[in-house]
Amino acid sequence: MEKSTTQENEKYDLPKGYEFDEVEQRWYSRWLQEKSFSAAMEEGKDAFSIVIPPPNVTGVLHIGHALNNTLQDILVRYHRMKGDNTLWVPGTDHAGIATQNVVERQLAAEETTRHALGREKFIERVWQWREEKGGTIINQLKRMGASCDWDRERFTMDEGLSSAVREVFVRLYKEGLIYKGDYIVNWCPRCHTALADDEVEHDPTDGKLYHVRYPYADGSGHVVVATTRPETMLGDTAVAVHPEDERYQGLEKIGIALPLTDRILPVVLDHHVQREFGTGALKVTPSHDRDDYEIGLRHNLDRLKVMDDKGVMNEAAGAYAGLDRFDCRKRIVADLEAQGYLVKIEDYQHAVGKCYRCNTVVEPTTSKQWFVSVRPLADKAVGAVQEGRMKIHPPTWNKTFYSWMDNIRDWCISRQIWWGHRIPAWTCEDCGEVMVEVEDPTTCTKCGSSKLKQETDVLDTWFSSALWPFSTLGWPEQTKELATFYPTSVLITSFDILFFWVARMMMMGLHFMDEVPFHDVYLHALVRDKDGKKMSKSTGNVIDPLVTIGQYGTDAFRFTLTAFAAQGREIRMDEERVDGYRRFINKLWNAARFAQMHIKDEDPAITEVTQRPQELDLAHRWILSRTNATIVQVRDALDGFRFNEVASTIYQFIWHEFCDWYLEWIKADLYGEDPQQRKNAKGVLLSVLENILKLMHPVSPFVTEEIWSQLPGERTTIMTQPFPAVNQAWEDAVAEQDMGLLMDVISGLRTIRTEAELHPTAKVEATVICADENKRSVIEEFAAGIEAMVRAKSLTVVAQGKVPDDAGHAMVQDVELVISLSGLIDVDAELEKLNREQGKLEKELKRVTGKLNNEKFLNNAPPEIVAKEKGIEAELVARLEKNQESSQRLQKLR
Ligand SMILES: [Zn+2]
Ligand SMILES: [Zn+2]
Repeated sequence: MEKSTTQENEKYDLPKGYEFDEVEQRWYSRWLQEKSFSAAMEEGKDAFSIVIPPPNVTGVLHIGHALNNTLQDILVRYHRMKGDNTLWVPGTDHAGIATQNVVERQLAAEETTRHALGREKFIERVWQWREEKGGTIINQLKRMGASCDWDRERFTMDEGLSSAVREVFVRLYKEGLIYKGDYIVNWCPRCHTALADDEVEHDPTDGKLYHVRYPYADGSGHVVVATTRPETMLGDTAVAVHPEDERYQGLEKIGIALPLTDRILPVVLDHHVQREFGTGALKVTPSHDRDDYEIGLRHNLDRLKVMDDKGVMNEAAGAYAGLDRFDCRKRIVADLEAQGYLVKIEDYQHAVGKCYRCNTVVEPTTSKQWFVSVRPLADKAVGAVQEGRMKIHPPTWNKTFYSWMDNIRDWCISRQIWWGHRIPAWTCEDCGEVMVEVEDPTTCTKCGSSKLKQETDVLDTWFSSALWPFSTLGWPEQTKELATFYPTSVLITSFDILFFWVARMMMMGLHFMDEVPFHDVYLHALVRDKDGKKMSKSTGNVIDPLVTIGQYGTDAFRFTLTAFAAQGREIRMDEERVDGYRRFINKLWNAARFAQMHIKDEDPAITEVTQRPQELDLAHRWILSRTNATIVQVRDALDGFRFNEVASTIYQFIWHEFCDWYLEWIKADLYGEDPQQRKNAKGVLLSVLENILKLMHPVSPFVTEEIWSQLPGERTTIMTQPFPAVNQAWEDAVAEQDMGLLMDVISGLRTIRTEAELHPTAKVEATVICADENKRSVIEEFAAGIEAMVRAKSLTVVAQGKVPDDAGHAMVQDVELVISLSGLIDVDAELEKLNREQGKLEKELKRVTGKLNNEKFLNNAPPEIVAKEKGIEAELVARLEKNQESSQRLQKLR
């Protein structure tokens, strides 16, 4: 097959193997060319829209993306086929710190830094990097078959989104919901920046633990506190003890005299203090310790910052001002010892946070940061879920959501980096007035000065992604897209960003649009390896989607992901299963080849025969009824986000009903002489195949499109064919019951053949004993078909009878099945074979059992070896049993 560059379908005979690579590339570029993914906005139609969880612009497709985007694409393709105005908005996130780091590493390789470059030049470099390298993940999503409306691709830093960010910031500020306040951050005194938690590396370090005596303010006693950083005591603003600690009852009325200073510290009672740890008394330094910061918040303590941004003690450190923090530590220890406050110094190994870039010890420090006051926003989001305007699937997440929202704290939105949306706040250098405006101010609104300085911090990356559902649709402009597609229909995302992202989108959406951002949220599980371990490069258990696609094809991979997508917290992914679904895709391909042989020259209108099912034979009525049931089930599962059920329903139907039974059953008609029978078989075959392809298209788009294009008649893309609708006329309980009986009878007879180990070509004499008259007449009617399918030279149907001794037999429903075995097998030769086999098995079993009874072996062998031997033993026992059953059966035939 030549690659088709024309828009016409050139019909060809489907080749023996499905060449997924060629088919995928050809169809994807054709879909793009024909703008098949473009959103329509037609009057009077339902709308269905999804915004993609924007991957980081630095991102590379991993298995989580693959799952997430497959599920989105399934819903989008389904709704597009249903005829909805369907939009899937794609895009990427500027990923502040992650992207800045990538470019900084590039600069480091050139032996320069962002500081040497300056802010403006550095940001130019980031944009340049994005132009050259930022599109990797987008191309990988295309390999996955994602049917996003690529003409509407957005970037959180593009012009439109940046203006939405600005608008939101200004409005929240003016409403009093954005403010500036103190916050504790990880501060690198060398890089002069706050670090995100994942930018701090914790190395176990040999340090010291200093035990210091803190006298009571009235001199009546003392507590001993322990610290690894004694210099921070200068910033202590309290001592905390557990409220039920008997040692310190009443201490809160006395207070502590902080050594080396003339300050008196309050004593606070806090349930978080561990009584068992040390003396149970804790020095509290809210400005230089994360936990202490929290205690400070709980008890409204003063914050005293004793170091500057370079890690040098400041004026608040009194006599120690001007000293580097580590020099200060030595001085403090010496002074404590000299004045008799030092109880002891212990060696102490503990984790010290270090800057991932320069390895400098990180100093937790309070600094001025920008916050969103989230309480009023959070309440609206909680209300939307409680009222059912927004549903979380699976609903087990509701509880987690509520409890998180109850405990939500103000959101720190400023970051001390360069790449991101710069905070639109200006301070007048003359009078200190702060201006937050949509347009850059040029003069101070209060004093008229033109000496204005813009805030240097940028916004947290999640700030812009919180606006994603409406900013991507054109807000603050009132666009047609916004009117058509907001609220979006469903958000599909992994549960680990429920709070970072989903909750914030809900808050912003409700506040600015007065409407939920999406009606449904589907939270999918995290993908782990087949043993439930997290996939990681160091463990070596990573499944790389692109490698898997190259090996098995996109359709097989997507089908696997869908089959695994049960609702829950964890998916255990087994690569071998992808190969299984590759075989399934091939099975469908081969079924289509078989169909094509028979129907390629037919007028597609032959499917009309399915409009009068009552005129069709049982097998046709049965498959149409099963097709209808499959349509009902698949649609229901899609509407309920039960993706694994979508896959299993399609799989069962295609493999076990359509291929295994129906195609076999109609061969006699297709190869027969009767023109009406032939026509009926071809018409139903084509109709069912068309339905199968449409049902499966959302999950496996490429193979279905390719086969579809090769069915008879003029064919436009399957993407816009109507999704199969429920057809009551096809529902046929009687046909399903009768066919069920026939299939049971055939399977039963086949089982007898297999158990007797008959040669596959051996012709048998079969008898069916069935007292039920209705059933008997069904079996009689289809005796010829049964004979063909079980290779019987005769099939006798009787109401009553006895099973002869020399026969194999089985029961299905209330029907007795009999196959005469006399003369078909050489009983003596078979018995001899079984005897030899038995000898071998017994010898082997003796060896294994001996080993397992050997104490020395049991004590010395690794547990996995012992387990393996036990497995072998169990298998041998089972095989021996089976062998004995076979030989008992044969004995009877003698
Ligand atoms: Zn640093
Ligand atoms: Zn001013």
